[in-house]
Amino acid sequence: MEINLISDTVTRPTPGMLEAMMTAKVGDDVFKNDPSVNALEAKVADFFGMEAALFFPSGSMANQTAIKLHTQPGEQLICDKYAHVYNYEGGGVSFNSGVSCKLVDGNRGMMTATQVEQSINPPDFYHSPLTSLVCIENTTNKGGGACWDFEELKKIRAVCDKNHLKYHLDGARLWNALVAKKEDPKAYGKLFDSISVCFSKGLGCPVGSALVGDKKMMDSALRIRKVLGGGMRQSGFLASAAIYAMDNHIDRLAEDHRRAAEIGEVLNTLDIIQKVEPIETNIIIFELDESKMLASDFLNKLEENSISIIGMGQGKLRIVTHLDYTQEMHVYFLKVLQSIG
Ligand SMILES: *Cc1c(COP(=O)(O)O)cnc(C)c1O
Repeated sequence: MEINLISDTVTRPTPGMLEAMMTAKVGDDVFKNDPSVNALEAKVADFFGMEAALFFPSGSMANQTAIKLHTQPGEQLICDKYAHVYNYEGGGVSFNSGVSCKLVDGNRGMMTATQVEQSINPPDFYHSPLTSLVCIENTTNKGGGACWDFEELKKIRAVCDKNHLKYHLDGARLWNALVAKKEDPKAYGKLFDSISVCFSKGLGCPVGSALVGDKKMMDSALRIRKVLGGGMRQSGFLASAAIYAMDNHIDRLAEDHRRAAEIGEVLNTLDIIQKVEPIETNIIIFELDESKMLASDFLNKLEENSISIIGMGQGKLRIVTHLDYTQEMHVYFLKVLQSIG
């Protein structure tokens, strides 16, 4: 039994998803003629109560398109120091949009409205870059799957309105936050100028993301996606997987969250573990007491039992639960953990 807990991106399509893909009606989406892509885009827009959506090959491309839409070269966006758009999109912010990032020292990837306000450069002070965009991430990836307090998100919206800033949500794992906090997706649709979501994480699709916003913005997004090389042809095969995932794989995220919490409970009982960060969704970040066991030895012991997890640097380790992590694997994994610790 191979157990891969390095990310929720490692999942394979389920038989039901494969069936949906095999029977998909497709056309050429570059001509906007693919009925499955059109159906997915309408479905995602409706889910958030927004006007329009666009299907993307990756979450990075959806985020990069949003940033390009909301900024001009030389300007600056505000994000947390842990933000995916800053850390894990290959410097695309500067490469694609000629924009710099003002990094906020937040808590587990989350900033306060006050911190955001203090990070805005005065617009009449022409020596500094013009602040034009705030990007937030929910759930936070590097922050260990933490969920924002919706009230704080509203306060940041007020700061954006007051200072004429656009507001983008990197919602790669927004599904997890919606399930964990029982929130209404339409409330998010009302709050943000644009939202990106991933189908290839917790929802278990092989490929795909979407960007959601108003109609005019998505018309512009279509052009930027083309420039970035993201126009796809019979992508309805992939869109059908995403439709299937939205219908069948959102509610079950609660199972991933329960298993993550149970793993956390076991880790907390182990002598070799120094710290487990709070667990709100499907990501567990923890640190070993390396005077008792080196992280590399711990990883090797897991490998001997065919279990993979990943190091995050600075002594931190990460476990991510997902659709392909079954109850049988879970029981086995907890037993192995107890035998090591
Ligand atoms: C995975 C992820 C993305 C998108 O990554 P891709 O690999 O380009 O699909 C964006 N933001 C966050 C927070 C992510 O975890």
